[in-house]
Amino acid sequence: MIRFEQVSKVYPDGTRAVDDLSFEVAEGELVTLVGPSGCGKTTTMMMVNRLIEPTSGRVLVDGEDIATLDPVKLRRRIGYVIQQVGLFPHRTILDNTATVPALIGWKRPKARARAAELLDLVGLDPATYGPRYPAQLSGGQRQRVGVARALAADPPVLLMDEPFGAVDPVVRERLQNEFLGLQATVRKTVLLVTHDIEEAVRMGDRMAVYGSGRIEQFDTPASVLGAP
Ligand code: ADP
Ligand code: ADP
Repeated sequence: MIRFEQVSKVYPDGTRAVDDLSFEVAEGELVTLVGPSGCGKTTTMMMVNRLIEPTSGRVLVDGEDIATLDPVKLRRRIGYVIQQVGLFPHRTILDNTATVPALIGWKRPKARARAAELLDLVGLDPATYGPRYPAQLSGGQRQRVGVARALAADPPVLLMDEPFGAVDPVVRERLQNEFLGLQATVRKTVLLVTHDIEEAVRMGDRMAVYGSGRIEQFDTPASVLGAP
C-alpha cells in the first residue's frame, strides 16, 4: 500500500534527513517508525502526504506515484493525526470532525452524519461531545477527536505522528489500547511515529528502527527484541 523507492531528503540547508530509504508497508499493516529525535521519522512520514517532497526517489501509495497524484485524491487517501491535534477552537467537536469530509466536497448533512458516527467509534458520545468546543475537552479526548477527524473520510492510509505523546502515561496507555481495538475493526494501513520504544513494540505489526537518516531494522517486534 505504501512503497518507498530509494528515497532521500536533503533540506535546503544541506541536512540529509533521510538517506536512500526503500521499504514497503502492506495493506492493513501498522508499522511504527521509532528512533531518537532528529533521525528522520517525521520527514519520512510527511513525504507520504506530500507535505515534504523527496529530493530523490519515489513514494507510491496504492501503486501510484504520489508526485503525479491530484492533491484532493491524495487527501482522500491519507488521514493524518499529529501530537497537538489542531482543532479549530471556534468550531464544535462535530464540525471539527466533519472538516476533512467537507474539504473533499461532501455535502454538510452527510459530512456531519459521518462525523457523529466516527465520534461514536472513538468512544465520544456525539450527543454529549458533538456540540462542545475543543477547550471543553481533556487532552485525551482531543486526541480521540483527532483520530475521528482523520478517519472521517475513510482513507485507506493513516499517518500518526506521536499521536499519544502529549498526554500522561495512564491516558496514553488507554489511548493506545483503544486505537488497537479500533484498528482491529477498521484495518487501515498505518504509519505511526514514536520515540517511545515500548509504544513501538506494543503497537507495531512491524517496526522500522531508525538510526541517523536510515532504517537499521525493519521487522516484527519479536524479531527486533530478539535480535542480538
Ligand atoms: P524525527 O522525526 O526523527 O525527530 P525529523 O524528520 O524531524 O526527525 O528530522 C530529521 C533531520 O532533519 C533532523 O536533523 C532535523 O533537524 C532536520 N530537519 C527537519 N526539518 C528540517 C527543515 N525544514 N530544514 C532543515 N532541517 C530539517
Ligand atoms: P483549511 O485551509 O480549510 O483550514 P487545512 O488544510 O488547514 O484546511 O486542514 C484543516 C484540518 O484538516 C487541519 O487541521 C488538518 O489537521 C486536517 N487535515 C488536512 N489535511 C488532511 C488530510 N490529508 N488528512 C487528514 N486530515 C487533514
